[in-house]
Amino acid sequence: MGNAQAIRRGRPRGLGLSLLLALVAIAVPATAPAPAAAAVDLEAATRIAKGVFPSVAQRCGLVRIEIGLLSALNASASAESYFYSCRVRIAPGTMTTASNAQMCSLMVHEWGHLAGLEHSSDPDNFMHERVPHNRLCGPSDEEARARQVLEANRALRREAIADKLSELRSALRATHRARRRAHGAKRVRLARRAKRLERRMKRLGVELRSL
Ligand SMILES: [Zn+2]
Repeated sequence: MGNAQAIRRGRPRGLGLSLLLALVAIAVPATAPAPAAAAVDLEAATRIAKGVFPSVAQRCGLVRIEIGLLSALNASASAESYFYSCRVRIAPGTMTTASNAQMCSLMVHEWGHLAGLEHSSDPDNFMHERVPHNRLCGPSDEEARARQVLEANRALRREAIADKLSELRSALRATHRARRRAHGAKRVRLARRAKRLERRMKRLGVELRSL
């Protein structure tokens, strides 16, 4: 399925494009430095893409990766690939907005083009125009966020249980002290209370170990 994190991309073709690209290259430097802060891990993304398509290295040798404006045809895309000159150009905006998972999915897609693959009409296919999350790139952004939320909730629950256990331990000590001093029905009642407290502590201990 197409999803919110899909990335648009394009692929220029044909002779007219070389002219167009030449014009773009004059107006805009072909490469620009990647943003320094919180930069997406382009190297890791490229490494995975290379691993998926070893045939690209055989055909191209080195693939040139540029960060710069895309050709007019792909103005709204995230990246574009040039099959014959073995280049991938990434839009500057993609460098600042894409997550590592998205960049990796995008690079595998572009490498697919360099390997000769065309777009797929299946929105779940990694060669779809709106690049879906690629399983080879690890957890998707949604999955990573869901894991973070789950882990945060677990941490909160662990804290709450630890608090409760301290409270119950104090109550149990107080109950034992009172029971030792008490007689008759009161002593029995306090003994029952101590048992209840112990059972609760045991249940919480089991839950804590499962978190
Ligand atoms: Zn494509």
